[in-house]
Amino acid sequence: MNKTSEKVNCPQCGSSEKIIPIIYRCSTADYERYRELEKKGEAILAGCVLSVEVPKWFCKTCRLNIWESDL
Ligand SMILES: [Zn+2]
Repeated sequence: MNKTSEKVNCPQCGSSEKIIPIIYRCSTADYERYRELEKKGEAILAGCVLSVEVPKWFCKTCRLNIWESDL
């Protein structure tokens, strides 16, 4: 269930070093855990999004939102 460790390369700069997942949370069940990740700069916490047209990752190198279809 936890897919945050998968390696993603940025389609723009090619780096996988500073790719962090964007986490969409509707429930508050794991909220504290993800808050900790966000504080450490290892994830971005987004709100409840029902659309499938949302970026899954963020490249901190070139500040690019990455959609799954970009890969
Ligand atoms: Zn990049």
